[in-house]
Amino acid sequence: GVFPALGGTEGSRSWFERAQASLAGGISSSARLTSTGPHPYPLYMTSGSGARVRDVDGNEYIDYLVSYGSAVLGHASPLLTDALTDVLRTGTMFGTCNVPEVELAELICRMVPCAELVRFANSGSEAVQGAVRAARGYTGRSTILKFEGHYHGWSDTLAVSNRPTTAEAGPYGAPHAVPHSPGIPPGVVDDVVVRPWNDPAALRSALDAHPGLAAVICEPIVANNACTMPDTGFLDLLRQECTARGIVLIFDEVCTGFRTGPGGAQTLFGVIPDLAVYSKALGGGLPIAAFAGRREVMEPLASGRVKHGGTYNASPLCATAALVTLRALNDPAVTGRIDETGRRIMETVRRAAHDRGVPCAVQGVGAMFQVVFTPDGSPTRQYRDLLTADGGRYDAFRHELLKRGVHTNAYAMACWFVPAVVSDADLDATCRAVEDAFAVL
Ligand code: PMP
Repeated sequence: GVFPALGGTEGSRSWFERAQASLAGGISSSARLTSTGPHPYPLYMTSGSGARVRDVDGNEYIDYLVSYGSAVLGHASPLLTDALTDVLRTGTMFGTCNVPEVELAELICRMVPCAELVRFANSGSEAVQGAVRAARGYTGRSTILKFEGHYHGWSDTLAVSNRPTTAEAGPYGAPHAVPHSPGIPPGVVDDVVVRPWNDPAALRSALDAHPGLAAVICEPIVANNACTMPDTGFLDLLRQECTARGIVLIFDEVCTGFRTGPGGAQTLFGVIPDLAVYSKALGGGLPIAAFAGRREVMEPLASGRVKHGGTYNASPLCATAALVTLRALNDPAVTGRIDETGRRIMETVRRAAHDRGVPCAVQGVGAMFQVVFTPDGSPTRQYRDLLTADGGRYDAFRHELLKRGVHTNAYAMACWFVPAVVSDADLDATCRAVEDAFAVL
């Protein structure tokens, strides 16, 4: 097998081979191809309980992917299983207004500083589109600014310059807007301005050159750039400039939302955007997303002038899952536990790397962090810094962890997501696996 210390992964290999015949590329999301990491096929997970997942060959892993942060209360959480079993018995969806969506919106308005009105969707990509539609409708403008390397889903408008190669990325201070895929019309990309993250001068030059921006969107902690953190003051600068120029500031909190604390990144950094987008941890493992914000900016949507729809939006099944999850995450002890768990792993990586003389940055916060093998071990500040990191070493590190039963994100530019339910024994085992992995790196 590919994972010699495990029982082998032949089952995953054969399912992936079989999948080629009927599933395009053998996968259901482009990101899952990168889930192969250094391996020629992805792992097929079949069950999970708490912080552990099990693959089709019966190998068990402590899981720090947790469905990209979604299963924040762990897999098969009894809290969710009980509540959702009731909904399964009484009807999952009516396509009508329902009670849990109201209770959920009320809870989000209590937890999230910017949230005065909420709308629900089914995925992060959809909710980001909703927020951008709302911003464009509110301002009557079309052009938006995003940051190089930030990921906001696969929609035409947003799948721009999230992973440009050095060859296509263009000048540092004013990068090209690079469509992520064939099939994205140039006319759509023309409405997107791209700038490097954490660069006040580059930001101001864009705002001066494009006075008619509808929105500036960012990941406040750039989960999709290995948890690159905002420089001190950079989010405040975004807030000031957007306020001064009548631009809608959107925080994409799809990854940071609720797991970095009940109020997400906006509470963590004390910077309140006009709109914020949520998914992942919101649903606790079921597909639900939301965008929320200031009453004035959401008003065109509330009045019905700006349209947004969705058959599945806030189904009783998914709204109930989100209610249960948010009620749990609203307890600071729960997000505190997530943070402590992650910080202990981060510290262990730092110490192991230091002891072995391996340069690397351990960046992010406890709830979401990444290990980046930068040449001198300094943290990344921008997307282009990540292109200088040693991806091969990341793959090797991840492989060594997998062999020791620790499952992490295959993608070096993504990050670890910490669930709330890692037991003390599993945390110890994780830290031992980290130490042992560094010993053989
Ligand atoms: N925004 C961010 C910050 C994300 O990380 C993602 C997904 N990784 C999305 C948006 C898109 O969410 P989804 O995959 O649910 O469409």
